[in-house]
Parts: sequence; structure tokens; C-alpha cells
Amino acid sequence: MKILALKRVRLVGFEGINQHYICKYLNIVINTAVIQHIKEKVQGERRMAEESYHGVPRNKIPWDPKIDYEKCTSCGKCIDFCHVKAFASEETSGKKRTVVKNPNACIVFCRGCEDICPAGAITHHSEVETRKIIRKLQKAGA
Ligand code: SF4
Ligand code: SF4
Repeated sequence: MKILALKRVRLVGFEGINQHYICKYLNIVINTAVIQHIKEKVQGERRMAEESYHGVPRNKIPWDPKIDYEKCTSCGKCIDFCHVKAFASEETSGKKRTVVKNPNACIVFCRGCEDICPAGAITHHSEVETRKIIRKLQKAGA
């Protein structure tokens, strides 16, 4: 990303110094600030997504992945796959296992991890039932 171009910028008071390097430095400073701003925006949106869904508090919506430990092999594929970090690996008595660490981060009606789990160990609540619950909560003003 290049914001300052040497052609367009003349820095008053720095005439004796190589303008190219100053512009390069300012580009780095500005780019860092822009990247930080974008990161904060994305994080903010993610927090909002975690907190509510169409006006309904997210924690009232029964949509989160359930792991069947009879089937799960703790391969960790769901941890790598889920970009909202709903899963994590935990160690209990020296044994690693995958857990749902952040259930409300799960994107409502996403089923991505169900599809990628090689053991078919992940399920979610019924979509039809969840829609009914959301509508009910919306009518009640959540
Ligand atoms: S992808 Fe499936 S089998 Fe692998 S850790 Fe996740 S739930 Fe377990
Ligand atoms: S359904 Fe989607 S958002 Fe939810 S835990 Fe699985 S991959 Fe993550």
C-alpha cells in the first residue's frame, strides 16, 4: 500500500534531507496506522457479531457446534478451519482434546466445520428450530 508519492509531497523544513527516505518512512507510519484501524474495525465487527444477531442477543441463540467425543479423533482440523476461533485444544490428564471454547463466536447458520470434520463428529442445533427461536425472540423484543 503506497499512500505518499514523492511527486506530490514536498516536506517543508526537510529540504536538505533526502525526500525519498522521508516519504518512505511516512508511508510505513501511515500504513501501520491504517492497518491498525482496519484490524480494530474487523475486531469490532466480530465482537458485534458475537454479541447480537439481527437484534437478538447472540447468547440466546442456540447455535454452536457440538462435538461427539465417541467419534472425535482430536485431529484439530476444525480448530484450523474455523476462522472465528470457536474451537481450541485442551490438555486433560496429559491427553489432548478439541473443545468448543467460544460457542457464541460461531456464526449463526454456518456449518462449515461439520463438512470438514473427517469423523463426522460435529453437529449443530436444528436450523428450523433455531429460526423459530430467533423469530420468537425478535417478536418479544429480545
Ligand atoms: S475435526 Fe472433527 S475429529 Fe477433528 S478435532 Fe474437530 S471434531 Fe474432532
Ligand atoms: S459452524 Fe462455522 S463458525 Fe461455527 S464453529 Fe463451525 S466453522 Fe466455526
